[in-house]
Amino acid sequence: MLHFFPTSFLDETLYGRMSRYHRLAGSSTDRASLRNLIGLHTHVITSGLPSKLNAFVSRLPLEANVLVDDLIANNTLYPYYTAFLPAERHARVAASMRGDSVTGIKMYLGLIASRLGGHNNLRFCRCCFDADREACGQAYWHRAHQLPGVLVCPVHEEPLYALGWPEIQMKRHKLLLPDDAFCAQHSGQAVMSQAQHELALSIARLSDAFLRRDVPGLDAQTVYDVHRSNAACRGLIRSNGRINIEALNQTLASYCANMPTYGEYLILRTRIESWALKLLRKSRGRAIHPMTHIALLDCLGGRREVTTDKPEEDAPAPAHPEATWKPLRVDLGRLTEMISVQKFTLSQAAAALDICVTTAAVAANRAGLR
Ligand SMILES: [Zn+2]
Repeated sequence: MLHFFPTSFLDETLYGRMSRYHRLAGSSTDRASLRNLIGLHTHVITSGLPSKLNAFVSRLPLEANVLVDDLIANNTLYPYYTAFLPAERHARVAASMRGDSVTGIKMYLGLIASRLGGHNNLRFCRCCFDADREACGQAYWHRAHQLPGVLVCPVHEEPLYALGWPEIQMKRHKLLLPDDAFCAQHSGQAVMSQAQHELALSIARLSDAFLRRDVPGLDAQTVYDVHRSNAACRGLIRSNGRINIEALNQTLASYCANMPTYGEYLILRTRIESWALKLLRKSRGRAIHPMTHIALLDCLGGRREVTTDKPEEDAPAPAHPEATWKPLRVDLGRLTEMISVQKFTLSQAAAALDICVTTAAVAANRAGLR
């Protein structure tokens, strides 16, 4: 039984909280802390989808007031990994995290097959590092920085410092913090061109929005409609409803030309054509990695409406010539009437209001219409 466990900082990973426990407890070794935390010193605590959460919480003092569901929602990447998953499948992911292993659920989510997000990440932003020390007295691991494909801080727009995968693997049983000497010595900062930085920033902001559930859960049909609508807006859907594959691949190739040459992007750029086709055709069953959805939203222009909390005057230079960041402005009265009274579908309402389906879906969810 632990005598204490640190309360969570904003957007902190569970791994980070455990690392702070290790430092605050003054344990002689990481192994001793891991045994205290989960009863084993050989288990790997990951930033994304950690397991053994029931066993962990059972070792906490009652006064710590920690609930497994709160940990899953606020200290792991569960909200991101389930963002595009049908609601009925969410419980299966959470059940794995409560249990002894998430290997099966990683396969189920397509993380291992896609080779995206199967790794553990340890990334931090130098500006967040300083701000956290000032505000909290401790630099810590932010969830948003550990998301697949996030190489730039969505708040400060700075390229993140990251430990390489070999170093993470070597230290997989350690409880590190960003200000550990090992992290200072072995973390590197991605070097990107301006265009790569802009693309990475878009992905970081979109990914963070899905993590924070600023974009409410989109059901499978809506997600499909959004991708199709964005493709249609780009002229990638023929009048008979078939996909113009040649034009789609040209659009994807232009997008990939600005992708960073690091981490998950190396995999994404080689497989985005086949994944995009799956997303634009109705496919049942196997889950498709959230980063693929997000990259397609970004590529086809959906991000302009999905990410709505960036003031226009602070907007970065657009990644695409015609792209601009703009706040979400929807006539909610008309949208409500169309959906509730006239029984319009989202696509019909979006067309009538001359807005993207993504925008209509976000507005409808915010207004409690869906
Ligand atoms: Zn930052």
